[in-house]
Amino acid sequence: MTKAILSDTPRQNPCAQCGTPIPRPDWIEPGEGRVSYLWTCHVCNYRFEAVAVYDEAAVEHPPLAA
Ligand SMILES: [Zn+2]
Repeated sequence: MTKAILSDTPRQNPCAQCGTPIPRPDWIEPGEGRVSYLWTCHVCNYRFEAVAVYDEAAVEHPPLAA
C-alpha cells in the first residue's frame, strides 16, 4: 500500500523562494492519505514543506451489508 507512494517521490521541485530545482526532498513523512515532503534549497537555504494528497485512502470502502 505504501510502496506506490514511495516510488512516486517528486523530484526537481522548484524552490519556493528562488526557483532553483531541488533534486529530491530532504525528508519524507507519510501520513494518512497524504505525504509530507520537506525541501531544502541549497542555493538560498530556504526550507519549505509540500504535501501530496492521495485519493486512495478514500477509495473502496464498500458499505457493510445489513
Ligand atoms: Zn532557493
